[in-house]
Amino acid sequence: MIVMKFGGTSVESAAAIERVAAIVGQREARRPVVVVSAMGKTTNKLLAIAAAAIEGDRAEYIRQIHDLRDFHSREARPVVPLDHRAELDRTLDDHFQELTELVKGLAVLGELTPRSIDAISSYGERLSSYIVTLAFRHFGMAAEHLDSRRVILTDKRHTQAAPNFPETYARLARTVPALAQNSVVVMGGFIGSTEDGVTTTLGRGGSDFTASIVGAGISAEEIQIWTDVDGMLTADPTILPGGHRVKTMSFAEAAELAYFGAKVLHPATVVPAIEKNIPVLILNSRRPEVAGTRIVADNVACGNVVKSIACKRKIALVNIHSTRMLMAHGFLRRIFEVFDRFETPVDMVATSEVSVSLTIDNLQRLDAIVAELQQFSQVDTEKCQAIVCLVGENIRYTPGVARRVFGALGGVNVRMISQGASLLNLSFVVAEKDLERTVAALHGEFFAELDPAVFERNEAVHA
Ligand code: ADP
Ligand code: ASP
Ligand code: MG
Repeated sequence: MIVMKFGGTSVESAAAIERVAAIVGQREARRPVVVVSAMGKTTNKLLAIAAAAIEGDRAEYIRQIHDLRDFHSREARPVVPLDHRAELDRTLDDHFQELTELVKGLAVLGELTPRSIDAISSYGERLSSYIVTLAFRHFGMAAEHLDSRRVILTDKRHTQAAPNFPETYARLARTVPALAQNSVVVMGGFIGSTEDGVTTTLGRGGSDFTASIVGAGISAEEIQIWTDVDGMLTADPTILPGGHRVKTMSFAEAAELAYFGAKVLHPATVVPAIEKNIPVLILNSRRPEVAGTRIVADNVACGNVVKSIACKRKIALVNIHSTRMLMAHGFLRRIFEVFDRFETPVDMVATSEVSVSLTIDNLQRLDAIVAELQQFSQVDTEKCQAIVCLVGENIRYTPGVARRVFGALGGVNVRMISQGASLLNLSFVVAEKDLERTVAALHGEFFAELDPAVFERNEAVHA
């Protein structure tokens, strides 16, 4: 068995779904289990509907729900067998009616809880998985829909739920292999449910995570993440277009890149894959002939020091100064307790004799955090910062990497540096306005020469 996950752009239209059916059809003998995201930007649209509801803008949310229904109906009809069209219409009606009731309820309450966010955002994957199942039948495959909420059991941390792995694996092993004997199994990513049957989600971008949970649960031979790029590239294409494809990397490198912003992979994806040692592939659903990126347990010998550069934007830097002459013992503990209490993860930390600098990417509770910290320290914050993170197993073995990095950066003001905590990354903070030229300079420095065993050169001209 293999798991094949298709992201939002890969199922955004009838034409895209037809491409997916062809890709899956060619691999039918490997008994694929297909995990799909919501179609196109559906999750964002559902969240916008919820936002309009709590603002009490009835005309607006009704219009948006109609648009979303039209979109699903328009894209689904051409890929659904004629004799299933009535069933399709009925199912769309049922789902959108239910959604409308839910949204009306929110409008009355005027309050959006994490639990209702999950209830609403789950419709994207529930609809896409159902539509893709019908489409596979239309294109001649036997296909069975499995509601992920029956098998992905999670805790109650709505919008960021964590799976109960043993129970989820047990349910997957009980259900999926039997279904996959004679059919392609289709499941929605991102969604799960609590013990009490309440719908949860695994966090934005969580369909990748679903794919690897399913892969681990059924001991798949491979987990394929099909998306809209050729694989993991040497730089985030939204910041620096024209990066080179990384043919192969280790789980550790992929995890680090994902955590520091390489959106192509949800950061939790590698966890189940590592546990069961299942290779993860990143592939392009528009160019299925490209070999993509293969992520494996073993370190891959590479002539380049750096495999890829990840970036995280919209970071805040928090500088905390001890009001005493030196840091008293217990100072760090007090600081981290505050971030812990406000459930705000810290990404990078640097300390000196009297001060601590750290970065966070969730700014929602920043004001409250600062107010607490000010009770025992002086605090200043800087928003609009970005973390740049160079990742490669060779960083730990290669002297002079920092010199090359800061040499290449010329006039860019570097705010904070971290190396050594994780041996395979070197990360630092710059102002967001400097991000593009920072990444371009580093890309020029570290990827002018490429080890052909590890990289496929992108022949497009670089800035
Ligand atoms: P999907 O909807 O298929 O899950 P995502 O939008 O979540 O796709 O992830 C794919 C996107 O990740 C790419 O379009 C690209 O903009 C972004 N990305 C960020 N960093 C990288 C990188 N290093 N390599 C490839 N893509 C990256
Ligand atoms: N549809 C969800 C999102 O947009 C999950 C995913 O696409 O991975 O975040
Ligand atoms: Mg994604």
